[in-house]
Amino acid sequence: MFKLSKKLKSLPPYLFLEIDKAKRKARLEGRDIIDLGVGDPDQPTPKYIIDALCLAVQDPANHHYALDQGMPALRRAIVGWYKHRFNINLNPDSEILPLIGSKEGIAHFPLGFINQGDYVLVPEPGYPPYKGGTILAGGKPFPLPLLEKNAFLPDLKRIPLNVCKKAKLIFVNYPNNPTSATAEKPFYKELIDFAHKHRIIIISDLAYSEICYDGYKPSSILEVDGAQDVVIEFHSLSKTYNMTGWRVGFACGNEKLISALAKIKSNVDSGIFSAVQLAGIAALDGPEGHIKNMRSLYQERRDILMRGLNSLGWQANNPKATFYVWIRIPKGNDSIKFAGAILERANIVVTPGVGFGKYGEGYIRIALTVPEERIREAIERLKKISSW
Ligand SMILES: *Cc1c(COP(=O)(O)O)cnc(C)c1O
Repeated sequence: MFKLSKKLKSLPPYLFLEIDKAKRKARLEGRDIIDLGVGDPDQPTPKYIIDALCLAVQDPANHHYALDQGMPALRRAIVGWYKHRFNINLNPDSEILPLIGSKEGIAHFPLGFINQGDYVLVPEPGYPPYKGGTILAGGKPFPLPLLEKNAFLPDLKRIPLNVCKKAKLIFVNYPNNPTSATAEKPFYKELIDFAHKHRIIIISDLAYSEICYDGYKPSSILEVDGAQDVVIEFHSLSKTYNMTGWRVGFACGNEKLISALAKIKSNVDSGIFSAVQLAGIAALDGPEGHIKNMRSLYQERRDILMRGLNSLGWQANNPKATFYVWIRIPKGNDSIKFAGAILERANIVVTPGVGFGKYGEGYIRIALTVPEERIREAIERLKKISSW
C-alpha cells in the first residue's frame, strides 16, 4: 500500500547481509567465533570519563533539552584540544559544532548544499554514510576510486571536467577506513587548490587522527594554507576514547559551513545529552596516558597480525594509523565469498571489501579490536586451512 521514496530505494544495498546471517547462524550453533569485522574498540571507556558522566547525570540541571550548538564549555574544550593537537586556532562561537556522533553530522551535511542532481565526490572504498547522506539529500555520488597504485588517494586529475563543474562536495578520510592509508600535506594542498578552482567544499573526516603508530602523527587539513575557506572537518570521540556508544563528536572549520549544519540540525535534533557533553569535556581535557596506552595496545596487536599474515603469505600494507588492516585476496576471488569461506572453515569474521563500494572488491578488512590471544588464535586457524 505504501511506496518507499525514490531516495530510499536508491540507497545502496546492504552488502553485509549474508555475512551477518552466517555469523548469527554460527553463534547459534555454539561455534567459537573470532570477530575481526567490527570497527568498534573492545576496550572500555576510561574511568575518568565514566565518573564525569555519573556525576553529571545526578544534577537535574543536566536533564533538560541541551542547547543545539552545544555547551560553551564543550566548545571551548574542543578549541583547546585542536590548539594542543594541531596548533590551529578556532573560534568556539562560530567554528565549532558538537554532534551526536560524527556520523549524523556527516550524513546531514549534504542537505545544506546539495540540490537535486548535484554531484558529490565520494571515495570508494569508503565509509557508507558519505554515499547515503548524498543520496538522501538528492545528490548523485560520483565515485573516486582509491587504488593501491595511488597509495589509496583519489586521483583528482582524472575527475572529468563536467563532473567538477556539477560537484558541490568532496569527501576525504585520512587516516582511512577501510584501507588504513594516510595523507600528507602536499596532497591536502593539491586538494585545497582543486576545491578553490572548482568551488567545491571539502569534507574531511578525521575520526582516526589519534589511532597511530611508530611515532607517526596524522595532520589535520586545517593546518594547510587556504583550508579555512573551503573545509569542514569532522571529528569523533568514539575511537579516541572508546566511546562509540555515547554518541559525541564535532565538526569544525569554515564558519558558513558550520552554521549551515547547525541550521539543519536545529530542525532535526535538540542537542547532545548535557551529561554526555560534560563527559566529553572530561575526555578531551583528560590525561594523555589513555591515548598512549591505547596506541601501544593496537600497535602490539598490529605487529602480531602482520607477522601472522606474512607467515601465511598474505599481502597487506603495515598500517601507520587506524585499527584496520586492508588485505589483498588472491586474484579472481570474490570478497563476499572469500569472507564467507573464512567464516565457514575457520570461524573467523572478516569484512568483505566490496561492502565499502565496488572498488573495495579484491580485499578484506580486518579490525584490531580483539585481544592479542584471539589474533594469535585466528592466525593458527588460518594456517590449518591449506588451500587458499
Ligand atoms: C567510526 C567512524 C566515524 C565515527 O563515527 P561516530 O558517529 O562519531 O561514532 C566516522 N568516520 C569513519 C570513517 C569511521 O570509521
